[in-house]
Amino acid sequence: MDTKVAVVTGSNRGIGFEIVKGLCRKFDGVVYLTARNEERGRQAVKQCEESGLHPAFHLLDVTSEESLQQFAEHITRNHSGIDVLVNNAGILDFDKSVSNYEDSKRLIDTNFMSLLTVSKILYPLLKNNARVINISSDWGLLSNIKKQIWLDTLVKEDLTVDEIMQFVNDFLQAAKNGKIPFISYAGHYGDYKVSKVAMSALTFVQQRQFLREGKDISINCVHPGFVKTDMTKGMGDFTPERGAHAPLYLAMDAPQTLKGTFMWHDCHQVNWD
Ligand code: NDP
Repeated sequence: MDTKVAVVTGSNRGIGFEIVKGLCRKFDGVVYLTARNEERGRQAVKQCEESGLHPAFHLLDVTSEESLQQFAEHITRNHSGIDVLVNNAGILDFDKSVSNYEDSKRLIDTNFMSLLTVSKILYPLLKNNARVINISSDWGLLSNIKKQIWLDTLVKEDLTVDEIMQFVNDFLQAAKNGKIPFISYAGHYGDYKVSKVAMSALTFVQQRQFLREGKDISINCVHPGFVKTDMTKGMGDFTPERGAHAPLYLAMDAPQTLKGTFMWHDCHQVNWD
């Protein structure tokens, strides 16, 4: 029988780790805990095993094309494809609400640009009926952006990936010009907001693309809530387990007809724009 496969990026800690645990409890198939660091990843698997859960492990740095390629080869060798892909890996320096260009570039490369490489390398392995879940944020709602030109552009029905890239590059150019242009774009934590708005916009563009190609693949994005993890320095309203609630709903319980939506942590659909 064809074994189902679920993959969670950046899942050695935080919300991703809880998504893996939730999948291990209920998903009928193999669950991949993936991490960019072997030791941290294996340690997380050990922790799962101590509570009777058995994820598979694979090294995966979402910013490395080579690492993604190696993972894709592993999947191709051992399975017939991917049924669930949770794009969870992300970074934010909570102590720095205004970053310099280099840090903003690194953040956008990790939180957004990596999704384009993931799409190129892992999407061809998605089975028909697969589900892709992008972990966005309330800071990924369009209203976070202050520039009218992008508010108008990003809602277009025929928005393209190139236009989303122009949006992030326009922000990076502003970040290069200093603190005031940085803040004028999306306020404090503007680089993170831009990365998550871009992720959300990409979700809708890619869903339309799947539909055009006649593929029954769903791709949704989700705000997991304000969650107490390392990223937030332990601040937040929810435990990581609670933060995993809506992503797990999208991965296993939501109707397959739910496509191209922005979901809130309580599993209700909200307007992105
Ligand atoms: P954590 O900082 O606890 O965990 C982030 C995870 O991403 C870690 O496992 C980290 O690995 C991994 N990661 C970072 N860069 C890469 C990379 N290049 N390749 C692979 N893995 C990587 O954060 P959270 O659990 O809080 O966040 C998870 C997701 O949820 C993120 O996308 C975040 O933006 C989003 N989110 C979080 C909210 C919150 O309140 N916590 C709110 C809204 C959204 P390592 O251990 O090696 O650093």
